[in-house]
Amino acid sequence: MTRFIDLAEMRKLVNLTGVAPFIKQLVDYIESDFKRWPEFDKTPRVASHSDIGVIELMPTADAELYGFKYVNGHPQNALNNQLTVMAFGALAEVKTGFPLLLCEFTLATALRTAATSVVAAKYLANKGAKTMAVIGNGAQSEFQIIGFNEVLGVTDFYLYDIDASATEKLIGNLNRYQGIRLHFCRSVDEAVAHAEIITTITADKTNATILRASQIKPGMHLNAVGGDCPGKTELEGKILTQADVFVEFPEQTRIEGEIQQMPADFFVTELWEVICGTKAGRLSQESITIFDSVGFAIEDFSALRLMYDIAEKHNLGKPIDLVPQPENPRDLYRLLCNPE
Ligand code: NAD
Repeated sequence: MTRFIDLAEMRKLVNLTGVAPFIKQLVDYIESDFKRWPEFDKTPRVASHSDIGVIELMPTADAELYGFKYVNGHPQNALNNQLTVMAFGALAEVKTGFPLLLCEFTLATALRTAATSVVAAKYLANKGAKTMAVIGNGAQSEFQIIGFNEVLGVTDFYLYDIDASATEKLIGNLNRYQGIRLHFCRSVDEAVAHAEIITTITADKTNATILRASQIKPGMHLNAVGGDCPGKTELEGKILTQADVFVEFPEQTRIEGEIQQMPADFFVTELWEVICGTKAGRLSQESITIFDSVGFAIEDFSALRLMYDIAEKHNLGKPIDLVPQPENPRDLYRLLCNPE
């Protein structure tokens, strides 16, 4: 049987611990998978673009498990009351190809994107940073704030969105959290004025300039999450030349990330190597670091692994007949004639 985790089961699974501890566990899973990066099959995701969005498949595998995610990105969906990003995922055993898990992955994407941002900031931001600007207060934003607060101890969040109702929604969702102080800002300038970390997590299928070089101060860490598709960026190119840039998988990030604005040989460091200690992360307190996040399949794999482990332990998810398991595996036809 395959385990099926729909939205209701996902809610149960995350709420066994709560969002913050779940992100914390996911940080550990992602870090441990990044530490064994060479063991994975890796490929840039397969993207199908239209004028208004993208649909992508993101596969990876180690020796035991194969995982993939289906995900879209349609910034204009919000106009029709639909999510910008929607996803589902699957995990299978490599030795037989049997699908172990089929699951909701929209919430899981938000959780794993936050966890990956936290992993990057743990290695790249100045230690003890307490303040973060969050530009773009849509569906992903609360998860980022909870993750940065829980794992890194960031306490003060300066919020800006072109749509003030998005910021009001965020404040309404998180104002019950002890230890998180939320500051409503009327401009990017106001939001970044006191920030040691800046997260950009906007959605617009265009080469936008959410942050200008003149807004960046020495020592800042930029967590650039929203630019994740060809023709979709958030940072003024000049910022990239003044900073040390860290990426997930360069072959994918050069197509989709902020560095799509730069020459093909633009120097970047792979995050996994910083985590393994084979490459330097932040060089000095004054350095400007950028995590040019686009989202890579291994992060989804880590989340699938965590969800599967929790589901197994607590017997969550519905067992479904996703693929046949006939008594005689040579007799598939009989399943149609004698379904009993
Ligand atoms: P969303 O549509 O729910 O929210 C986006 C928010 O950005 C909206 O509230 C919108 O008003 C705001 N915005 C748009 N332009 C802005 C601007 N110029 N200044 C300030 N705010 C602006 O989208 P979401 O689900 O929160 O996703 C946000 C972005 O993150 C998307 O671009 C998505 O593709 C990307 N994303 C990246 C990863 C990754 O791993 N890197 C993962 C998931 C989503």
